[in-house]
Amino acid sequence: MTELDLHEPLLCPICRAPWKDEDTCYRCKGDLAVLRRIRKEAALFLERSKASLKASNLRDAQAFVDESLKLFLSREAISLKACLLAKEGQFQSAYRLFLVMRGR
Ligand SMILES: [Zn+2]
Repeated sequence: MTELDLHEPLLCPICRAPWKDEDTCYRCKGDLAVLRRIRKEAALFLERSKASLKASNLRDAQAFVDESLKLFLSREAISLKACLLAKEGQFQSAYRLFLVMRGR
């Protein structure tokens, strides 16, 4: 399985300095505002997914976590996706995601 960059720790895509979730890179002064907005939108989709799961609305939970993952690959979103897949009985797919998170 190919190695997956989960953006943790977050790095500036220009100079690879640690990204402190600010609009401008502290080192190269690169404009990271768009990336920050994308990451925030991914976090909002993830929160909607968790709220849907809490309300036992698995279809919406899946849809929202998928939208989150399209924008940003976070361990939390991948974990939630794996849980949702397992809850649907898709154990092989859930296990594959687990292996991705472990870097295998
Ligand atoms: Zn930079």
